[in-house]
Amino acid sequence: MSSTELNLPLTGGCQCGQLRYRVTVQPLTLYCCHCTECQGQSSSAFGMSLRVPADGVQLEGRTASYHRDAENPLAVEGVFCPDCGTRVIHRGRGADSGSSIKAGTLDDKSWLKPVGHIWTSSAQPWVKLDGLLYDKQPDDSYAALIAAFSRS
Ligand SMILES: [Zn+2]
Ligand SMILES: [Zn+2]
Repeated sequence: MSSTELNLPLTGGCQCGQLRYRVTVQPLTLYCCHCTECQGQSSSAFGMSLRVPADGVQLEGRTASYHRDAENPLAVEGVFCPDCGTRVIHRGRGADSGSSIKAGTLDDKSWLKPVGHIWTSSAQPWVKLDGLLYDKQPDDSYAALIAAFSRS
């Protein structure tokens, strides 16, 4: 098994504490996304995604959600706290698509070390990039990012 075996559950939640979550399976990978959507959503330079299998997250509390591309049956659902607005998770609607925890909402952020960066074509120029780099979306279903995380 990987050396990144983490003590479960991982816990986290929104800024006000109303919405909490527990991650009960080992995460698959951690990367930063520099696409302009993640920049806008996070109001920052990039989004940080901790990918976990869809059945590996339990939410507790009231949620609201947003679909950027509501017509698309595979559109990602952004789940956030209706009180403070913190986005905590992105959920895919495809059969085997997982969930991405917005990693900055974890209670313990001290161990977070991304193994790569995607959409570097729109990364802000001051951001230092290392690890696996992708101009745009990975074309291997994140396989290399998942393998790198398991070795890290
Ligand atoms: Zn909140
Ligand atoms: Zn993105």
